[in-house]
Amino acid sequence: MKLIFATANNNKAIELQALMGDLIQIQSLKDLSFTQEIEETETTLEGNSKLKADAVFSEFKRACFADDTGLEVEALNGAPGVFSARYAGPDCNPERNMALLLKNLDEYSNKKARFRTVITYRDEKETIQFEGIINGEIISEGIGNYGFGYDPIFIPDGSQLTFAQMPLDEKNKFSHRARAFTKLKAYLINRIDVLNN
Ligand code: IMP
Repeated sequence: MKLIFATANNNKAIELQALMGDLIQIQSLKDLSFTQEIEETETTLEGNSKLKADAVFSEFKRACFADDTGLEVEALNGAPGVFSARYAGPDCNPERNMALLLKNLDEYSNKKARFRTVITYRDEKETIQFEGIINGEIISEGIGNYGFGYDPIFIPDGSQLTFAQMPLDEKNKFSHRARAFTKLKAYLINRIDVLNN
């Protein structure tokens, strides 16, 4: 079965293919030469992930899915959340985003946070969402060189290391994305009708 992943990020598609194994062949938007940018105009992870799946489904009329992830910090009422990628504004980059987060969190003793991923799967019969969450805490200075985004300042519960100190296969053992994708895979295994397409 071929399944479209509504992402232009080929690294994500490769990560996903490893998780799905032989069961499903993942095609990214780059594989399909779809270069149009899908603007993320919704205010929730659920909304943006559905918006992307809907846009790709209406283009190709084939089974597809999209994901959206945010870092939700408890003391900041869930910020940066859906705005994680562009938290520091127009000139944002991961360093500026982390610096702003640490500044805003400085006055709080509660450093609890979680990464949350929402996947929307869509085909001609069904639209269904899956969530993956990893709880943890924010530390005051970045450590580690692996990963991306907020990885250097996030320590998942049960670990002494930040995500940025873990090689990808270690992070994937408990990451938000891996948890959501594992649910998608379990769902697809029971959709014989889709798998045989
Ligand atoms: P996306 O929806 O996967 O593109 O994620 C949106 C933003 O959330 C990214 O630009 C990062 O800032 C942040 N983010 C998502 N996943 C991770 C992760 O695994 N580690 C660190 N930051 C992440």
